Amino acid sequence: MIVVMKPGATAADIGAVIRKAESMGVKTHPIYGDNRTVVALVGDLTRVTREVFDQMDGVLHTLRIQEPYKLSSRTTRPDNTIVDIAEGKVRIGGNEVVVMAGPCSVESREQIIEIAQAVKEAGATMLRGGAFKPRTSPYDFQGLGLKGLEYLAEAREVTGLPVITEVMREEQVPMVAEYADVLQIGARNMQNYGLLQAVGRQQKPVMLKRGISGTIRELLMCAEYIVSNGNYNVMLCERGIRTYETATRNTFDLNAVPVLKESSHLPIVADPSHGTGLRELVPAMSRAAVAAGADALILEVHSDPDAAVSDGRQSLTPEDFATLMQSLRRIAAAVDRKIAAPTKEQEQASQLVAA
Ligand code: PEP
Ligand code: MN
Repeated sequence: MIVVMKPGATAADIGAVIRKAESMGVKTHPIYGDNRTVVALVGDLTRVTREVFDQMDGVLHTLRIQEPYKLSSRTTRPDNTIVDIAEGKVRIGGNEVVVMAGPCSVESREQIIEIAQAVKEAGATMLRGGAFKPRTSPYDFQGLGLKGLEYLAEAREVTGLPVITEVMREEQVPMVAEYADVLQIGARNMQNYGLLQAVGRQQKPVMLKRGISGTIRELLMCAEYIVSNGNYNVMLCERGIRTYETATRNTFDLNAVPVLKESSHLPIVADPSHGTGLRELVPAMSRAAVAAGADALILEVHSDPDAAVSDGRQSLTPEDFATLMQSLRRIAAAVDRKIAAPTKEQEQASQLVAA
């Protein structure tokens, strides 16, 4: 249930609603939107009647939320959530489409710095790179771990690009959160509920990837695990699902973009690299994702894709990435959006390095 407050409701009115709900044994989540404040009530609502709240000062009306994903639902919050990254250096969910780019894995200090500079040069405003890698085979490269996080932090220092990187286990959350600007939950961990709760209990933004065989509804229920633990800075990522099709690594489900936009207020990130698995398909599907309404793209870029330790086949060269960025600007303009450009601070970071 949500209790919708009147535009002029005071903090005392909102406080009274919260106390009343908590006295009935349910959890409360006040959500402050541009146009209205609502108090979402979650938990066992069997003893809670709408009339109790309807009569309170400052209350406009109450609504039952039909969807099981209460806090992530568009009904609870009609305005888009905008996720602020690195103290507002990057904002995802507004009119500007953010491009995050970088290698699948951090392989060395030189590699990540070189790629960070190249993607920045082409116009990316965030850097991706895995330090902890979920690999299909236990014999494959598992990531540089802590060293990888340190190299990412150094690449951020040099370029000013905030960093997104995967956290695979609950006990790694404090360590990864210390280095990363955004925590990535990988597709294989979409339903790792303990991990979702742990990233929900801290405040760094989270990008939750859709599971390999996860439905859109399951993805939203997983986001709910994070949000209901207190962290509203969540983005949902479509990265392709497993189907009977073998022409591509995964089936990039672009339907998910407008479906999620309609059902939820959380920003949507599209990952055409994992979605297709083939670098020659990445530009077309990146353009399609922007046209479909994605709020951000996450793309794998490597200076020598054929020598990459992971996902080389789907990695763009920096040159191809730069060409793609130009066409993305035209697509974004055609749908009344813009590709986010680096901030002044980020521009300065590169000038310092060049000096
Ligand atoms: C990745 O981003 O490199 C990755 C491992 O992605 P996913 O979890 O979507 O497979
Ligand atoms: Mn990858």
